[in-house]
Amino acid sequence: MDENPKDKLTLVREYLVESNVEGLLIGSATNRRWLSGFTGSSGWLLITKEKALLGTDFRYWEQAQDQSPDFKLIEIKGRLSEELPKFIAEASVNTIGIEGKHITLHQFDVLLTVSDVAWVKLENTLEIFREVKHPSEIESIREAATLTDKVMAQVNEIAYPGITEKQLAWELEKRLRELGASGLAFPTIIAFGNNGARAHHEPGDRQLRLGDTIIVDMGAKLNGYCSDLTRTFFLGNEPNSTFLEIYNIVLDAQEAAIKNIKPGKTGKEIDKIARDIIDSAGYGKAFGHSLGHGLGLEVHENPRLSQLFDGNPLGSGMVVTVEPGIYLPDWGGIRIEDLVLVTSDGSNRISQCPKQPIISINH
Ligand code: ZN
Ligand code: ZN
Repeated sequence: MDENPKDKLTLVREYLVESNVEGLLIGSATNRRWLSGFTGSSGWLLITKEKALLGTDFRYWEQAQDQSPDFKLIEIKGRLSEELPKFIAEASVNTIGIEGKHITLHQFDVLLTVSDVAWVKLENTLEIFREVKHPSEIESIREAATLTDKVMAQVNEIAYPGITEKQLAWELEKRLRELGASGLAFPTIIAFGNNGARAHHEPGDRQLRLGDTIIVDMGAKLNGYCSDLTRTFFLGNEPNSTFLEIYNIVLDAQEAAIKNIKPGKTGKEIDKIARDIIDSAGYGKAFGHSLGHGLGLEVHENPRLSQLFDGNPLGSGMVVTVEPGIYLPDWGGIRIEDLVLVTSDGSNRISQCPKQPIISINH
């Protein structure tokens, strides 16, 4: 554990009282890890006023002992339909909250076979606490971001006419791993030319040509934490006027949004600042996604910088991406994304990768 798990248990026990439940059952991997430190792929937590239980199987027994010393371990040996009810009986409570967004129908059917327990579907559980990052979590995000910054700064050496999107993606992935990433935060997005019009293009066999735009959106995973960074490049000495025009609008929108980030602002307000700039430049319809998202153990977390987000306003210790984009069918797209930490009086940019979009071809 990288921080005091007792503090987290205290928070969760207060949450039980607020939610009118005697216990909370956690099955989602990310919430399980955040609360207990246990990183195995299979297991359940059950928290009550008195107890903190972790149920897992033989494969993870020693690991769970090491990672979750504050939890009582319960071995789960066989079928879920038999073992989960036994695990729940250990808690000796009658009203238990469940993760409405994560539990499967199959698991819910099993829960319904447990007698004398009322199940309460909770919309968000530990996600609420995960929005504000502990200093050790921010450190892990910074380390993952530093790796990503370094590899992004190598795109201009790696990209050459003829390389395919898939080849470039693989080369960048290799370099992230060589620098120490434990994996990718998400599948790398590489889009050349017209393909950039699709915001989440899957890398294919399209070869890079002179005069193409190149969108690279990638993230590393380190100590369980994610990074997320996008840069858009132009291959050639003379960028065309459309590229320069759109690049500068997107950059202006990003800078204005970042400048306005501070505690108390809502995700909606920050999204609107960037959206208004893109709108007034005439490209409002070409910015079809939200401005950004929280990031931590998962690459997409709350809070969202979005017109649709009604959750908590920004607070010190939150980490968000700011990633406006303009996408034009038949032309391509431009997106620029940085990671930003909300501080007590404003914000602090975590991403340090320069924005030098022109990849000249005589290197
Ligand atoms: Zn991204
Ligand atoms: Zn992102």
